[in-house]
Amino acid sequence: MKKIGVLTSGGDAPGMNAVIRAVTRAAIAKGMEVVGVRRGYNGLINGDIVPLDARSVSDIIQRGGTMLYTARCAEFRYEEGLQKAKKTCEEQGIEGLVVVGGDGSFRGAADLSARGILSIGVPGTIDNDISMTEYTIGYDTAMNTVVEMVDKLRDTAQSHDRCSVVEVMGRNAGYIALNAGIACGATYIITKEEPFTVNDVISKIIEGQKSGKHHFIVIVAEGIGGSEQLAKEIEQATGVESRATILGHVQRGGSPTVQDRVAASQLGYYAVDLLSKGIGNRVVGLQHNEVVDYDIQEALKMKKEFPHDLYKIANEISF
Ligand code: ADP
Repeated sequence: MKKIGVLTSGGDAPGMNAVIRAVTRAAIAKGMEVVGVRRGYNGLINGDIVPLDARSVSDIIQRGGTMLYTARCAEFRYEEGLQKAKKTCEEQGIEGLVVVGGDGSFRGAADLSARGILSIGVPGTIDNDISMTEYTIGYDTAMNTVVEMVDKLRDTAQSHDRCSVVEVMGRNAGYIALNAGIACGATYIITKEEPFTVNDVISKIIEGQKSGKHHFIVIVAEGIGGSEQLAKEIEQATGVESRATILGHVQRGGSPTVQDRVAASQLGYYAVDLLSKGIGNRVVGLQHNEVVDYDIQEALKMKKEFPHDLYKIANEISF
């Protein structure tokens, strides 16, 4: 393979730049040309493509966001869009593609691979909601951001004897909520994966009050939502002044942590290695700290276990 492209697609995540750097440098080291496709699959449809060399990816490993921009691209879901993308690749001599994103982006990578443009998916999402890998790039940075923010909210909740209800991202997955919740010493963690009732949350707070607790942190996963309403119900039932905070997009930004930079470098390199061997239609990931790769369709069908044991521990030590 002589020339490959790299793009970032779907929601952004800290560490995407580190993948772009790794892909670019690995491709150059293997004697391949490399280009950056801007704004996800849109760049393939519109021909918005920039050459990358060793220096164009200097000074980005530590930066959040993505220098190639990211976007969603509705047109790419249809044959006409795919054909336009294929034509652009053929015109530009792009034989392989590294796609950094989530499951949706991998579906696009599979569609492209089926049309002769070999594509490899690299999991880049703060949500950690990709089944074939234990870890997704951006997840650690996002959790650390949540912990930093909730520690600050705790200071003010403590000063005012309040309950802070904090809604964190993760789409339908509760990984950020669970792990950041444990790390923040939350009184209650609410995720879709674990059954709960508002009464359970209220009872836990009342129990805490009885043992002399005056401030409380409740973490709510995005997939559950409704944190404003929950704060109202807690306040009514317990008399503890309660405030809801939706952390929002702050969780998607920031300089990537060591774990994210290392995972980005490993997975980006491995994706290029597969392409250099003429292999496409795979997703790369990490299992037991080892790099693994799966057929995209197979990867999309996989299911990931929620760590129920960890949830149980969190629950048992938060009173
Ligand atoms: P993520 O990759 O984070 O899951 P999305 O689901 O929004 O994000 O997908 C990102 C992009 O991937 C979409 O805008 C579209 O261009 C492409 N995509 C998503 N689903 C498909 C599909 N079934 N077939 C082809 N392309 C898809």
